Amino acid sequence: MSETTIAKEQTESTSTEETTMSDTTTDSARTDQDSDNDHIQIEGIQKTFDDGAIVACDDVNINIDKGEFVILVGPSGCGKTTTLRCIAGLEEPDKGEIRVGGNDITNLAPKDRNLAFVFQSIALFPHMSVRKNIRFGLDMNTDLKDDEKRRRVEEVAETLGLEEMLDRKPSSLSGGQQQRVSLGRAMVMEPEAFLLDEPFSALDANLRDEMRVEVKKIQRELNTAMVFVTHDQEEAMTLGDKIVVMNDGYVQQIGTPYEIYNDPTNRFVADFIGSPSPNLQKCTVERTDSGLVLSTDVFSVPATDEQAEHLKDRVGETLIYGIRPEYLTITDGDGDFTASLDVIEPLGDRDAIHLSADDMSFSAVTPQGELSRETERVQVNIQTEESWLFEQGGTRIV
Ligand code: ATP
Repeated sequence: MSETTIAKEQTESTSTEETTMSDTTTDSARTDQDSDNDHIQIEGIQKTFDDGAIVACDDVNINIDKGEFVILVGPSGCGKTTTLRCIAGLEEPDKGEIRVGGNDITNLAPKDRNLAFVFQSIALFPHMSVRKNIRFGLDMNTDLKDDEKRRRVEEVAETLGLEEMLDRKPSSLSGGQQQRVSLGRAMVMEPEAFLLDEPFSALDANLRDEMRVEVKKIQRELNTAMVFVTHDQEEAMTLGDKIVVMNDGYVQQIGTPYEIYNDPTNRFVADFIGSPSPNLQKCTVERTDSGLVLSTDVFSVPATDEQAEHLKDRVGETLIYGIRPEYLTITDGDGDFTASLDVIEPLGDRDAIHLSADDMSFSAVTPQGELSRETERVQVNIQTEESWLFEQGGTRIV
């Protein structure tokens, strides 16, 4: 039984939740730039279930370079796992093409794709030693000489710090060590790419942090593409060279962690990435003697030159004003608005500050201990240069 055959035996998701195309998706958001180094090309993949009633993913286009760490991230049910399973060959797409190294593999059996799948649940054989677990795929799927198999297992065990544990049974290992064995089993196959589906979700928070660093180091060392599924935006930001944000079956944006964080293509991406979440408030475009301003019930701020350029024909319209918490600053002087301090949430080096003014809530981030619990009201300044504007439907304007 191969790694991928084991995958077929994993339980399938059977929810009948229906998905529809997000109205916030734009053409530019769904495409990925072609590059000469593209190793894996995913073009126009669609997968539906229940005779088309459930669209698990649609129009997915992703290019993956040889040594690239790509994260598929999005809320539960957005189609990440289905996309990954299409790449692995565990699902047959209704439409689209998948190429590896220029070869069309869309209709190849999973075992013929040379892609290694690492699962959410650690599927080790309890009666086999770590050594046998790691070399399992080599025994089942290759005609390599025994010496070569031994060499690969030992090399991988060394990379993963498992040398001392090769003769132990999985039950005597910690969760993190077991997940390492599972990675090792994929690594010995020397695949074209690793496909990982929430591999750390069963681990506790500290171990998860450790494994993230480890897997990123390993990926850098191997210089092999990894496609990693997670619903955790923080995991996506810390691991990815390239992040693919999905919602309702559609890719919303593809970019580096900084691009996704600083320059979201729509309201969904802005809201999904980053913690605390950005402030997103309805505002009206107004013309004053000193130029265009953006007005909410609580504050009125001048449009930046760039914003004004996009808004000159939109006076009177209602839009969404977006700003990350770190760009709201507490000031001693007169701010852009006054707010009540509701809650201080210590985050370590910073505090998340939750504020309210009229019926609106805001989050800000301040250095540790800057505000005391006794503080009742604060003056808040908005760093308008860092703000975004979205259509009410969610598409980014500027
Ligand atoms: P999660 O993080 O919860 O695993 P996901 O983003 O990976 O979610 P998918 O598992 O790809 O999402 O599922 C996308 C949609 O397709 C969901 O609505 C899901 O219920 C549906 N779906 C997935 N597999 C099947 C299946 N075999 N039969 C019917 N519906 C399915």
